[in-house]
Amino acid sequence: MKLETYIRDIQDFPKPGIVYKDITPLLQNPEAMREGVKRFLENLGDVKIDKVVGIESRGFFFATLLAEKLNAGFIPIRKPGKLPFTTIKESYSLEYGTDTLEIHSDAIQKGEKVLIHDDVLATGGTAAAACKLVEDLGGEIVQLNFLMDLDFLKGREKLVPHNVTSLFTF
Ligand code: AMP
Repeated sequence: MKLETYIRDIQDFPKPGIVYKDITPLLQNPEAMREGVKRFLENLGDVKIDKVVGIESRGFFFATLLAEKLNAGFIPIRKPGKLPFTTIKESYSLEYGTDTLEIHSDAIQKGEKVLIHDDVLATGGTAAAACKLVEDLGGEIVQLNFLMDLDFLKGREKLVPHNVTSLFTF
């Protein structure tokens, strides 16, 4: 099953020059969703995971499915002002300006094994900020997984020395 055939390119969204990778055709298809979960679990192998962290918002879909399969807790990382309890924050640079991510301060206990998931690895700034938040709480990052990575943006270089996998590459 070629999961990449369920990704739809939207030209110039959300702004001119961006080719947006729309995962909603994949989410509409239960067989493709099951196949995605199966491949993520195969890539992870037989390791214990305590928490699966999903990055807002398209990271939440597969992160919750994986958490359930792994008998792990699901943790959301969100944009500022969305999480109701006390948080820690991490800012990162964008092409123009900066953005910030937050995680609940009680989301991860020291030494817990963590899997981080998002839909797309582009420049890697978002995922690198997520790593910092998890490590600031004392979590040990076992793997970062993505549905796809945009190889030409070299996001993997920002995530060294972590274990990074994706189901397909554009
Ligand atoms: P980056 O920090 O550049 O790696 O960007 C990753 C974040 O932006 C992820 O949360 C993605 O969901 C989103 N993203 C970046 N580029 C795209 C794209 N071309 N299509 C869809 N989502 C994207």
